[in-house]
Amino acid sequence: MPVSVAIVGSGPAGFYTAGALLKSGADVTIDIIERLPAPYGLIRFGVAPDHAKTKNVQAAYARTAEDERVRYFGNVEIGRDVSVDELRGIYDAVVLATGASVDRPLGIPGDDKAGIVGVAAFVGWYNGHPDFRDLDPPLDTKSVVVIGVGNVAVDVARVLTKTPAEMASTDLTDYAAAAIHAAPVTDVHMVGRRGPAQAKFSNVELREMGQLENCAPVIDTAVIPDTVPSDVSARDARLIERNLATLRDFAAFDPGAREKRVHFVFQASPVEVLGGARVEAVKFERTRVDEAGGAVGLGEYYEIPCGLVIPAIGYYSEPIEGVPFDTGRGRAVSNDGFIDEGFFCVGWIKRGPSGVIGSNKPDGDKAAELILEAFPRGAKPGREAMEELLAERRVRVVDFAAWKKIDAAETAAATGGAPRAKLTRIDDMLKVLGG
Ligand code: NAP
Repeated sequence: MPVSVAIVGSGPAGFYTAGALLKSGADVTIDIIERLPAPYGLIRFGVAPDHAKTKNVQAAYARTAEDERVRYFGNVEIGRDVSVDELRGIYDAVVLATGASVDRPLGIPGDDKAGIVGVAAFVGWYNGHPDFRDLDPPLDTKSVVVIGVGNVAVDVARVLTKTPAEMASTDLTDYAAAAIHAAPVTDVHMVGRRGPAQAKFSNVELREMGQLENCAPVIDTAVIPDTVPSDVSARDARLIERNLATLRDFAAFDPGAREKRVHFVFQASPVEVLGGARVEAVKFERTRVDEAGGAVGLGEYYEIPCGLVIPAIGYYSEPIEGVPFDTGRGRAVSNDGFIDEGFFCVGWIKRGPSGVIGSNKPDGDKAAELILEAFPRGAKPGREAMEELLAERRVRVVDFAAWKKIDAAETAAATGGAPRAKLTRIDDMLKVLGG
């Protein structure tokens, strides 16, 4: 009897796990369970629309989904349609690959005002995630503050400041393009609480900010240190030096020469969101960076006026019933991916929200190894029992052939060199399938 495996979540971590199980050559059946009709998780809903190359990896995931040992169960939600405990009863092994999709709260006074939109929601909105389709972020402002200096903050700053022509050949959703390009936003302030040497963005992403058609990067060079901190590895020192050099180059831009600007602000820790019902400014405390690279408040404060604040300070995973959860760190409790007998986790729900797409591959390899070690052969019914249960509950499963129809409808509707016009409501996706 084949080892039956259910993978919950169809993002990179889920697909790398499926891929590793297939590659092992073991006798397995793999069912990938996804809440939405559309697969690929972070690739479709997280990666920036203008980073098309990063999304190419989905072709490999599609090949995995089409392997005869794999079945895609789209539009099936854990908790609503089937519980984790039921899955554990049906399958030899269950692997959670549900990612981290909840915004970490800012946690300062005033952070509940209108005009504060977490980055998971904002990115989900412009990328057409059905949960955020109707977010309608208040873009009726000249000034936006993005808190955090990681790659997600850079993505948001770039999407907000690229021209319609620069975004035309991307899969940015039509409603987000209309809203962003009609908005009066001229200045985006990306704010780091520590210094440029501690920033989390990578250099390719940073350099892109100096290549925009109608947006100038702005930085006060006084905050750029002359030397890289001495206590970092040689590799990190090279990466930091590159970032510092790019930031120094930014000083050559004339801020007035372009319609829009992205301000790189460092050593400023957010302490309060100011305004009435709607945000009017963020108050920051100036900081210095101590020997350990931490931010130390200097007791000096200043404000950046803005009508929209986007905290891009990291994500939490959503707790799932039946899964031991570390609420402080916002992820599942596991021993390097092993939760319990026959129960595993991979990707951001295991490690937290860090690394690039490929960083999830070792998790998939590890989970496959643990599964095949624990289960030389299968003992539980797997797919057949799952299909019976879902049929009994009248769940409308979107299989991979059905997803390909939705995919074809999206690509057929694309205009202006875009790869697709995304369907952003579950009902609209199901309509393509008729019935
Ligand atoms: P990140 O890289 O961890 O950056 C989070 C930023 O938020 C940091 O600057 C952090 O500062 C700051 N922050 C955290 N808590 C804060 C607070 N309370 N107040 C002020 N600032 C705070 O996370 P991310 O940008 O969400 O990215 C997640 C992962 O996805 C990263 O590994 C990233 O590289 C990856 N990613 C990659 C790409 C790409 O390759 N193109 C694109 C998007 C995302 P401290 O450092 O001081 O904590």
